[in-house]
Amino acid sequence: MHDLETDGHRARKRFGQNFLSDPNIIRKIIDGIRPQPGELMVEIGPGLGAMTAPLIERLGHLHVVEIDRDLIARLHERYSAAQLTVHEGDALKFDFGSLCAGADSAPTLRIVGNLPYNISTPILFHLAGFADKVKDMTFMLQKEVVMRMVAEPGTEEYGRLSVMLQYRFRMGRLFDVPPGAFRPAPKVMSSIVRLAPLPADQLAAKDEALLGRIVAAAFGQRRKTLRNTLREFIDEAGLAALGIDAGLRGERLAVDQFVAIANRCSGA
Ligand code: SAM
Repeated sequence: MHDLETDGHRARKRFGQNFLSDPNIIRKIIDGIRPQPGELMVEIGPGLGAMTAPLIERLGHLHVVEIDRDLIARLHERYSAAQLTVHEGDALKFDFGSLCAGADSAPTLRIVGNLPYNISTPILFHLAGFADKVKDMTFMLQKEVVMRMVAEPGTEEYGRLSVMLQYRFRMGRLFDVPPGAFRPAPKVMSSIVRLAPLPADQLAAKDEALLGRIVAAAFGQRRKTLRNTLREFIDEAGLAALGIDAGLRGERLAVDQFVAIANRCSGA
């Protein structure tokens, strides 16, 4: 199905191209984003412009980041520079902070996109690095990924993605989108998720890189207990001092418990 043509464009599987084609779903997503005239917004992967057109209509001007040269050429043909700024290239390497004015300005950037599913996890981690510049983000992703993002401790879906994103963002799943809303249709169900950065003073980790390494270690071997997975960071007595049982698996720990472990290690 992936070579099906949409609007004269052959969808490229390597770029995760599934184009939204259901006008009701498009309207529902745009209504959920609630774009206001003059807001600073960037769309990742505009593709054939299903969301781009209504976004420009409401905002006046939009930034987009797109990797596919054929689609970039179409965007340049269709929109003026006053309406659209096209950033050509890989969103995984794009400096989203460069769109914001002063370094100390209030976080005003809004990021949206029907994200290419083949790079969903790395793009979420990349975007987390710009949280201090961002007002909010609204994305379409595989439902399975969204369920992992918002998962609670103790559930099967809870893992590194849940902890690292919940540390930084308040998140909510808005609604699901069936495969039939796209051309070509993907094999999986999709969901819309909204992320809003938590205030900087609520981010309690003294060393975020260390937090990242500890969380990665705790979930690297899911079946193993903290006693084993965190051995290089903290011993049983250290865990006990934090009220954490070394015989638990990482999936049982809440985000603030991971933060407590990281802070004890960085203080050590
Ligand atoms: N927004 C359009 C829609 O809803 O119909 C297209 C969505 S399609 C799922 C993903 C889009 O992201 C495609 O336009 C694809 O070319 C683009 N894309 C894929 N990988 C990308 C990357 N690494 N950086 C920027 N854009 C990328």
